[in-house]
Amino acid sequence: MSLDEIPDRIFVSLGRRGFDPVNPKQCPKCELFGPGGLKLLEKKLYEEVKSEEGIKRVIDYKIRCLQCNTIFYIRLQHIIQKIDGEEKRITTLVNILDEKQNDLGWVGNF
Ligand SMILES: [Zn+2]
Repeated sequence: MSLDEIPDRIFVSLGRRGFDPVNPKQCPKCELFGPGGLKLLEKKLYEEVKSEEGIKRVIDYKIRCLQCNTIFYIRLQHIIQKIDGEEKRITTLVNILDEKQNDLGWVGNF
């Protein structure tokens, strides 16, 4: 279990301006980021859901900011398709949730 499972750079669509990389591992309150400032407390895997897009695999990473003690979650939603029996990751949506798991919004994809 490690924050390394979440990439340091994900991409946000800016429409006509293309894609801009952001770091999703950032405290939503004090905006601190970096491996020394955030502590991974828990990793929660949900049951996978089959949808039209493929298989959706949701993972929540519960994180505490060591600077302001805010608890928040980074949620990864992996969209996987089976092609010739092989699993292929199509995309992953990244959302940030607050301590009560209210969705604070979509950050980007990788
Ligand atoms: Zn913070």
